Amino acid sequence: MSEVFDVVIAGAGPAGLTAALYAGRAKLSVLIVEKGAPGGQITNTNEIENYPGFKTVTGPDLAGMMLDQALSYGARLETAEVTGLEPDAGNEGAFGGNSHLVVKTGARDFHARTFIVATGSQPRRLGVPGEDRLGGAGVSYCATCDGAFFQDKDVVVVGGGDSAFQEGLFLTRYARKVLMVHRRDTFRAQATLVERARANGKMEFILDTGVEEILGESRVEAVRLRGLKSGQVWEVKVQGVFPYIGHVPSSGFLPASVARDKEGWVVAGEDTRTGLEGVFAAGDIRPKALRQITTAVADGANAAMAAEHFLAGFAGKGH
Ligand code: NAP
Repeated sequence: MSEVFDVVIAGAGPAGLTAALYAGRAKLSVLIVEKGAPGGQITNTNEIENYPGFKTVTGPDLAGMMLDQALSYGARLETAEVTGLEPDAGNEGAFGGNSHLVVKTGARDFHARTFIVATGSQPRRLGVPGEDRLGGAGVSYCATCDGAFFQDKDVVVVGGGDSAFQEGLFLTRYARKVLMVHRRDTFRAQATLVERARANGKMEFILDTGVEEILGESRVEAVRLRGLKSGQVWEVKVQGVFPYIGHVPSSGFLPASVARDKEGWVVAGEDTRTGLEGVFAAGDIRPKALRQITTAVADGANAAMAAEHFLAGFAGKGH
């Protein structure tokens, strides 16, 4: 039989990498499975100003440091997408119940004694006509990656949260004008970011307004907006659209026994334990009021320690 890891971690964002660091330091064998670039959402963030110890750091730099630290304690990294999680029929009972798990990926399967789901979330789509068709042709969910393509252009940022403000401010480095379109007239974003945006001459606010359609032949040429109170519909010429309207959880690959709430977030408390024994949830994938790097790394540490205790419990029973 192939190697059985003490811990397999799905997702190499701050939660997953911290879990790998703590589990590695606890001398557990650790495999991290990540489908994209290690770092998760922070790889799309240009400036991080609220991760303690760093006055400012880029997302890719912080991700690189977190990865190096985790790997230095023995964690292994595999680039693959986790597509399923199943009890290991052949090994059922070795640790009791489902504690031997098969982590399925497109290419191959991995065997795990415990599993930490740290797959976070992906950008929520506007769901309007033109969004998919013009994806990569003016519609982008990553200002850090694509901002430079909008030198002296006019762009729309949709949303009123931290991401919309942070990325909108970043886009002012390139764009001629950044139009912040938000469905209400108050914002969720931190006051510091709102103040900075209001003071930025390149930013304009279109409030109580929704995007109805993204227009353009082969590239974005305009957006059709609707005043949500006035009912008025109008078009604004822009060359870029950046929706920052929150995230949806990446939890679809999990079995029904790992309970999720109605939006798909994995039900787990501070202790990160899920409905399935030996499976823990860390970071943005859990329901929580504040999704930050700091809250994700805290979860990663808790999940690794919970996994270690789980394994120690079985070891103590003579397994
Ligand atoms: P968010 O806080 O959930 O904000 C989403 C925004 O999009 C809200 O303004 C919401 O409007 C709007 N929205 C949601 N669905 C919409 C729809 N269908 N159409 C139009 N607008 C819609 O998401 P986020 O900004 O991505 O932030 C996610 C988490 O990461 C938050 O906890 C945030 O604090 C954190 N974060 C922190 C930083 C930082 O600390 N620097 C940076 C980025 C993100 P309503 O307000 O009307 O609901």
